[in-house]
Amino acid sequence: MTVTPELAQQVLDWHAWLDAHPEPAWRETGTTAYLVEQLEHLGCTCHQVDGRTGAVADLGTGPRWVALRADLDAIWMGDDDGYAVHSCGHSAHMAAVLGAARLLAEGPELPEGVGVRLLLQPAEETGTGALDLIERGALEGVTDLFGIHVRPVEELAVGRFGPALHSGASLTGLVTIAGEDAHGARPHLGANAIDPLVALHQALPAMRFNPAESYSAKITRIRAGGASLNVIPGTAEVAIDLRAQRNEVMTGLQERITEAVRGIASTYGVTMEVSWHDGTPGAEVHPAAAATLAQAIREVAGEEALAEEVVTTGADDFHYYAQASPGLRSSMLALGVGVAPGLHVPSMTYSTEPLPVAAAILARAVRLAAEGLRGEGLS
Ligand SMILES: [Zn+2]
Ligand SMILES: [Zn+2]
Repeated sequence: MTVTPELAQQVLDWHAWLDAHPEPAWRETGTTAYLVEQLEHLGCTCHQVDGRTGAVADLGTGPRWVALRADLDAIWMGDDDGYAVHSCGHSAHMAAVLGAARLLAEGPELPEGVGVRLLLQPAEETGTGALDLIERGALEGVTDLFGIHVRPVEELAVGRFGPALHSGASLTGLVTIAGEDAHGARPHLGANAIDPLVALHQALPAMRFNPAESYSAKITRIRAGGASLNVIPGTAEVAIDLRAQRNEVMTGLQERITEAVRGIASTYGVTMEVSWHDGTPGAEVHPAAAATLAQAIREVAGEEALAEEVVTTGADDFHYYAQASPGLRSSMLALGVGVAPGLHVPSMTYSTEPLPVAAAILARAVRLAAEGLRGEGLS
């Protein structure tokens, strides 16, 4: 499974096109069309659902599948008149998965009864795309699944690869506050929504867990008040971003915030409601899948390119797949491309040089997993 200069160039060309055409969650129509076109050219059968972006592309007929997942969406910056940018590196993931598909399509054939499935997943950033593909039946017959994600330079040096990515759990809480508008001169006749809003802000640092646990809770948006500065606002809205390395701590955070909201609402005499959005579970890495990736890294890039498993507070909805399909052997390849100054920063840049090697590692991991299925007598 060698990376020819011609293949390397094609992976970089794919990346250049995808990176130049960023589309946010659930609007990845051009990206989906482009990927489908390239993959059909490689001999894949692509399955799409009307009105929804993303696709499932199959190489071979199964009934067992070893799968690769690429996420399609870019990040939307600013308000309604903002712009999309691939500041989470998903353009790199798509290019690497396309390269892997080409290497696998070029043969040799996988063991009989084993095919390659590509999960072209929309809407990773909103935590909804993996669930949608699961609902489409994308995991049927899938025994092994590999994902990929670029890493910030502090986590992984350029040209190094980690065999697993231990992502944290993430969740967004949206708290609405309903008090009562009042004249600035008559605060006693209303209920200022800003007071409980500030109380909620101050309650967050009081949510303490074991310091050995990694977690954070912070306010990411506040909306209150209107154009008239002499009106006491009766309504407000607060968004809270939650992170936790372990799913149990996330559940704890969620319970404590719900309790705090209840207490603050009664103290200030307002109605407060909390709703939860865009949640993604923390990683449940399968050791066999991580071992397969480690072997693929060694064989393709050499022992010195193999890094430790990467632990990160970043979240990824990839982990819904393992949750939905118990026994699924899944792990994400951590890709050292030197992302700086950081993921989700519009000015972020990284080296594209390791992308063709990443493609070869993914293709090799698929072959190793497929061979393993032969050993299990499933083929
Ligand atoms: Zn992201
Ligand atoms: Zn991402």
